[in-house]
Amino acid sequence: MAATLPDIATALIHHPYRAPAGFDAPQPGVFKASTVFFPSVAAMRQTEWKDKTGYTYGLHGTPTTYLLEERLCTLEGGLQCVLSPSGLAAIANLSLALLRSGDEVLIPDNAYGPSKALAAAELKSWGISHRFYDPLDPQDLAASISPATRLVWLEAPGSVTMEFPDLPALVRVCQARGVWTALDNTWGAGLAFAPFDLTPGSNPSLAVDFSVQALTKYPSGGGDVLMGSVITRDPALHMAVKLTHMRLGLGVGVNDVETILRSLPSIELRYRAHDEAARELARWCQSRTEFVQVLHPALAGSPGHDAWRSLCKPGPGGAAGLFSVMVDPRFSQAQVDAFCDQLKLFKLGYSWGGPVSLVVPYDMGSLRTGWPVALKPGRVVRFSIGLEAVADLKLDLAQALNSALA
Ligand SMILES: *Cc1c(COP(=O)(O)O)cnc(C)c1O
Repeated sequence: MAATLPDIATALIHHPYRAPAGFDAPQPGVFKASTVFFPSVAAMRQTEWKDKTGYTYGLHGTPTTYLLEERLCTLEGGLQCVLSPSGLAAIANLSLALLRSGDEVLIPDNAYGPSKALAAAELKSWGISHRFYDPLDPQDLAASISPATRLVWLEAPGSVTMEFPDLPALVRVCQARGVWTALDNTWGAGLAFAPFDLTPGSNPSLAVDFSVQALTKYPSGGGDVLMGSVITRDPALHMAVKLTHMRLGLGVGVNDVETILRSLPSIELRYRAHDEAARELARWCQSRTEFVQVLHPALAGSPGHDAWRSLCKPGPGGAAGLFSVMVDPRFSQAQVDAFCDQLKLFKLGYSWGGPVSLVVPYDMGSLRTGWPVALKPGRVVRFSIGLEAVADLKLDLAQALNSALA
């Protein structure tokens, strides 16, 4: 008797039921896999994952990761995308795909700090050298390129100090010298300007070779997930990144992909709201005597404002929700720290792009190789504007200023 009953474990593992095809709903299904099944040995040997025509292993892609990759390509105007477990991992993926011992990479002096640290410690130990250039001076970039230079990083605007570079001019310098360009496009998010269409209307339009984003920021929009992307329009460059990605094992968690797929449809609305609020608060900060300079590329007089104006959408959605202030040097660092501590709605925390406004006081000495000429002396504080009511944020800034910087 018992021998004719199916074993319950086997029956549950090899259950024959298949749900009918054709299910459709606002959110796409989430496919989880390390192992992927093949119908035959022949299929196992032949299946090609590199061009998204099939599946071989979770690390190489699932329907869920392919979907996010394709949507991000649409966002940024690219053709191919590789996802990594964080923005910094995407930067590392690209660097290790392109650079070999003896090569040199150039990095803007106002680049995202951990990106500089990657070059200074990890890349250096692989025999890859780096140099910092002044992103506001294309001549300085041209003079910094050596026969060993293979890759130039671009960032618009710079982290913390928010100087907006003349991206088309920098890309032209690199193209004239046959050097790859990689843009950290986390701030622009594919919305403020198009990284593969920097000179709209000209044919062909000027484009960077790579656009990298920390999806951790606006695509996530929640402050609750880390991910990064490398987007290209050149199949050979894409394949270099894809193969290094596979060899380094930089797989992403599908639950995290799902989180970003959930947020992506609202990115344009959120980005516009962050932008409008940040511009209003930045202008308000300009009226405060505690601040000697407000660093926001959409404000006239901010470093690189003309470059911002010629590249980015003029109206709402042409800038991210970030700005920095230079606090008058008559205030001590302890007073500036007290101002940050005194804020109630603004939380102390790194990263940005979520609903909660954030503040970080930075030490310029550790950020830059020298004091940038475009910046007045002072102590720098960066704000990331969330989605709270602007009037409430203004009141919060005012009470903290009045109590800590009186
Ligand atoms: C946050 C950020 C990164 C890194 O993203 P993570 O996901 O935190 O690793 C890279 N570049 C810029 C400009 C960023 O703001």
